[in-house]
Amino acid sequence: MSNMALVSFTSTLLHWYDEHRRIMPWRGEKDPYKIWISEIILQQTRVAQGWDYYTRFIERFPTIQRLADASLDEVLLVWQGLGYYSRARHLHEAALYIMQHYGGVFPASYVDIRSLKGVGDYTAAAIASMGFGLPYPAVDGNVCRVICRVFGIADDIQQNSTRKIITQHCTKLMQGFEPGEFNQALMDFGSLQCTPKNPNCENCPLATRCHACQYQMTNHLPVKSNHIKIKTREFHYLCQVNNGQTIIRQRVDNDIWKGLYEFPMIECEYHRVREKTRDILPSEFPDKTIWQTKHQLTHQTILAFFYLVKTDKMPDLQPHEILVDLSKLTSYPFPKIMTDFIETVLKNVKSQSKAKAK
Ligand code: SF4
Repeated sequence: MSNMALVSFTSTLLHWYDEHRRIMPWRGEKDPYKIWISEIILQQTRVAQGWDYYTRFIERFPTIQRLADASLDEVLLVWQGLGYYSRARHLHEAALYIMQHYGGVFPASYVDIRSLKGVGDYTAAAIASMGFGLPYPAVDGNVCRVICRVFGIADDIQQNSTRKIITQHCTKLMQGFEPGEFNQALMDFGSLQCTPKNPNCENCPLATRCHACQYQMTNHLPVKSNHIKIKTREFHYLCQVNNGQTIIRQRVDNDIWKGLYEFPMIECEYHRVREKTRDILPSEFPDKTIWQTKHQLTHQTILAFFYLVKTDKMPDLQPHEILVDLSKLTSYPFPKIMTDFIETVLKNVKSQSKAKAK
């Protein structure tokens, strides 16, 4: 594209954006802290779901200082239900880092932003462009799709080399325009107009310049190889109840849900649970599960089995385990599997026990 064509492309895009931009609570925000929080939430979450979490997070931790002063448990509790909990752990760690190394002031250079825990190329570019007006293209899935279609790029977008080519195109397109506006316009355009399936080419202001549209290639671009292998894991949870109390344990290993709590859990195949619990449970293992469910993560399928063990004597606490009142469980951050169990099944068990006591 000639320079004039580039300018005309971006002007058309920004004109479209003026009319169609999505309304979001962080739109127009210039505070890099708030942009950072919104971008981390949106990394793996749809806007509709992230909206409430963003509002709650900012209300609870309105500044870097407040986030750094909070305990990790408090941060995880606000994040509870959103998934990908490493994002919350990294936010907390990065807030402490900003307090220590930048006196609580959000760093203003791309390199310093990119070096924060949990911040990748895309997020650093989004914060740098929207918070500081720096010319860094924020290349996400939406942007890849639009650029590959418009410029007819047929290389695998999972490859770094392809991302580089897309970034170069965006860098040229944003020249002379406000970088934050350009990035947001391109993302919204990909999300609303140039959608993965059935893009609205008939009413597209970029159709005459779009390679994919002119050569009927919208179904073939972008090219994305699928390398994701999904692993299935079985989690067997022991909900031990005695005198209105139960045992929970914090997950401390470098695995999913690190920092969150759960009932003591054995990971093994279903037919081996009995043998594995023989030495650790004081009373007989129940014949049946009280509840079971399936939880899908990006790379893993979790099959969860819950066993209710009513016991006269709790076993000795193991490392990272604590004894808690059933009524206090909501003070702890849990993965969704656990909150679903507590809010549906365990609540009924408690109310049945109370009814019997009367
Ligand atoms: S013409 Fe179609 S494929 Fe091309 S940018 Fe517009 S919506 Fe996307």
